[in-house]
Amino acid sequence: MHQLEKIAEAVRSCTNCKLCETRTNAVPGKGNFDADVIFVGEAPGRNEDTHGEPFVGAAGKRLDAILADTGIDRKDVYITNIVKCRPPSNRLPSKVEELACIDFINQEIEIISPKIICVMGNTAYGTLLGGKEITKNHGKIIEKGGKKFFLTFHPAATIYNQNLIDELKKDFKKLAEFLRENGEEKQYEERRCDFCMTKTKHEVVVMPKIVTRKRKWLFKCTECNHERWLQPYRTVAESLY
Ligand code: URA
Repeated sequence: MHQLEKIAEAVRSCTNCKLCETRTNAVPGKGNFDADVIFVGEAPGRNEDTHGEPFVGAAGKRLDAILADTGIDRKDVYITNIVKCRPPSNRLPSKVEELACIDFINQEIEIISPKIICVMGNTAYGTLLGGKEITKNHGKIIEKGGKKFFLTFHPAATIYNQNLIDELKKDFKKLAEFLRENGEEKQYEERRCDFCMTKTKHEVVVMPKIVTRKRKWLFKCTECNHERWLQPYRTVAESLY
C-alpha cells in the first residue's frame, strides 16, 4: 500500500479531535501521488463530508474552472485540506482542530515532495506559514524550511466576491508559469522493488558527483516510495577522471 493510502486510512479512522463525532466522512487528500503541486484548502464542507473527497462542492467547481482556465489538469495535482473533517455549519476550524490534524498535512507534503505548495486562503496561510491577510500577500512565492509556497485566495472567496475571480485567475496563471519553468520531465523505469517486491514504476534520479562524491542513480518506487541507490558501471569516459 502506498504511504499516502496509509495516511488516508489513518484520516478515515482518526479520533484526534471532536470533529470525528459530527462528521459523516473524514476527507483525506486526493490526487496524483507524484504531483508537482499540492493545493491546500481549509476544511471540508457539506458535499465533501457526504462524499469523503476534497473540493467536490461549490468551492470545488470554482477550483476546477480556474484549473481548466489555466491549463492545469486536476488529475495531475494533489488536493487536500488543513483540517480533514467538516466543522459543523462550516464554521472556521479551531486551533485545537488544526493542531490535531497537522501531522497529516506535514506527512502529505513530505511524501509527495512537490515543487510548490499552493496555499489557498487564510486558514492554510496561518497554519502552514503563520501568515495573515492573504489579500495583501496573494500572488507571492515564499520559501520556508526549504519548501516553496504560492499564496492565493480560497476559491470559495470568489463565490461571495465576484471581483476576486480575475485576481484568482491571475494568480493561477503565475503558478502555471512557475510549474512550466520548473518542470523537467521525470524519467521512469519498470523494475522489481526490493521493498514491496512487485514490479513497479521507479522514478530514476541521476545524482551528480557533486552531491554524492561518486555519480549515483536513485531508483524511487512510485508505489511504496522505497528508495534504492545504485552506482552505474564505470564508463570509459568516467574512468578518465
Ligand atoms: N473548502 C475547503 O477548504 N475544502 C474543501 O474540501 C471544500 C471547501
